[in-house]
Amino acid sequence: SPRLRFAPSPTGHLHLGGLRTALFNHLLARKWKGKWLLRIEDTDRTRFTEGAVDSLRGSLEWAGLDYDEGVGIGGKYGPYTQSERLNIYHHYTKELLSRNEAYECFCSPNELEAIKVSLKQQGMRHSYDGRCRHITDEEKVRKKKAGEKYVVRYKSSSESLNIPPDLIFGDNQPSAPTAGFDDFVLMKSDGWPTYHLASVVDDHLMEISHVLRGEEWLPSIPKHHSLYKAFGWTPPKFAHLPLLCNPDGTKLSKRKGDTFVEHYMKQGYESSALLNFLALMGWDYHSALSSKTTLDPHIRNDGHSLYELFTMDQLIEAFDMTHITHRKAAVNQSRLDFLNKMTLRRMAGRLGNDGVMVNSGKISHDNENEGEREGLIRRFQQGLRDEKVLKGCELVEDVEYVEKVFDAELPRTTILTEMPMHSIFYFLPPTYTCHESQSMLKDLIPRIYYTLQQSASSSSSTTLNEDLVWDVIHKLLHQLGIDRKPKLLVPIRHALTERKKGPSIPELITILGLDESLSRLRRGVE
Ligand code: GLU
Repeated sequence: SPRLRFAPSPTGHLHLGGLRTALFNHLLARKWKGKWLLRIEDTDRTRFTEGAVDSLRGSLEWAGLDYDEGVGIGGKYGPYTQSERLNIYHHYTKELLSRNEAYECFCSPNELEAIKVSLKQQGMRHSYDGRCRHITDEEKVRKKKAGEKYVVRYKSSSESLNIPPDLIFGDNQPSAPTAGFDDFVLMKSDGWPTYHLASVVDDHLMEISHVLRGEEWLPSIPKHHSLYKAFGWTPPKFAHLPLLCNPDGTKLSKRKGDTFVEHYMKQGYESSALLNFLALMGWDYHSALSSKTTLDPHIRNDGHSLYELFTMDQLIEAFDMTHITHRKAAVNQSRLDFLNKMTLRRMAGRLGNDGVMVNSGKISHDNENEGEREGLIRRFQQGLRDEKVLKGCELVEDVEYVEKVFDAELPRTTILTEMPMHSIFYFLPPTYTCHESQSMLKDLIPRIYYTLQQSASSSSSTTLNEDLVWDVIHKLLHQLGIDRKPKLLVPIRHALTERKKGPSIPELITILGLDESLSRLRRGVE
């Protein structure tokens, strides 16, 4: 059965491209009922970063990408960290040396530089001329005795290699010997293997059937294929994923930090929204789906379609290798925001078929999202507790109330972490400090207040509901001779919330309760 792997180098935090590679490995492994593993490629000691492995694993865990074998969980192909496999790479280096497929090279950095310059002047594409291929055995012994440092190089041949098409890029890839690679280094003078050697040896020993990795590794393909050939091993199938780029097509800039997964974790994005977002980058979901359904794209006025919205199970079902494209994939922030917003609605059990919110009264409580919904509300409540102004506020501990506020604010929420700050007024009356509200309150609120109070006290109904409040509002409009609803609703909203946007006034009054609403209106009268 298929075996895949994600093989990051611990050089820093996981970036979006890395998480996408892990996701595609996960999706195909699950779809094919195979396995995928996590291997840490830490043989480049100059780029090793303390804490990077923990951070990587933390990001994968947050995303819920659970690998079947690898660092932290083990497996029968371990160890899965390359620095713990050095003896294996030495063994295979010796094997190539004894088969005369590799040789020891004693050239110093200065010599190498001079060779490179001279080859370049001659118009050659190589950077090393292979001179150490011809060193005699006696000389080798002498140099080693004298303590000269050496590397082991692969002896590249001009024999043409038969490289099968890349599963994504097809024949659109460099081929040997036109790629004209050098006698590249397998083992460095400090006894550490290069990426090329370690990666080929490990993929073979770990019985990897499909290598999915970033496009930046495509140029290494001839080297890897020739190594498989030198060892006499069958190579895995290779699939390279297109680069991620900025919306204008330029290389994704790492400077701003927003290309790191941790950035999105800290901002409070839902991991399933980020995965959904990454799945669309390089996967032609449109053609993948159109073979199954007749797509009504449902393009909304924000330019996105609900067909972009997938749960992990739906992704595993719909995803396939044939629809991964080799076109560069743009990272588009507004698409991520759209997906996060819709994901929140879905998790809360409030996503209608057309993306419109399902009325909070109609939430089906047997829905499968119940756990997800509770999780969101719990996080929201914690966010409220963390708001300084709400320290010690008892209402924050009233889960039922918190849930009502959550539902009322959901339609205007893009990221869950922005919700507590926007919800403070449900827990604390506004301070009416802004000029605008002062003048509005002075003018209209006294009249609104008395009418509302009168209607409420003469109403026979004891429980407040939205219909009742609408009745009162219509009565008010009539009694006050106001021709346009906003003329009444805007000042009420100010008195209740000191905000310009929010849930409908009846919904607000229903949540706040009549007493609290009247008291807020009264504060305008005073
Ligand atoms: N260690 C390489 C990286 O960090 C992975 C290359 C591969 O998957 O073969 O990108």
